Amino acid sequence: MIKVIHYRHKCIGCNACVEVDKQRWRVSRTDGKSVLIGSTAKKNIYQVTTGDDEAEKLHKAAEVCPVNIIKVIG
Ligand code: SF4
Repeated sequence: MIKVIHYRHKCIGCNACVEVDKQRWRVSRTDGKSVLIGSTAKKNIYQVTTGDDEAEKLHKAAEVCPVNIIKVIG
């Protein structure tokens, strides 16, 4: 199991995470910030638990985020 945490309020909408993993990330047309698909929010922090098969792409998204607001555990 992989846990992903997205500090969405700090997102600058650069699209880098979307480019590496379109299944899990998209940019909102409403506010221009990225959306962690399938996540639920507690205050400003979005979280989702995924299968291990997504690990590589999720780690890559965390790596390319220029403001370091994607955390991947597992
Ligand atoms: S890479 Fe980071 S800053 Fe860029 S859209 Fe994704 S979460 Fe936002």
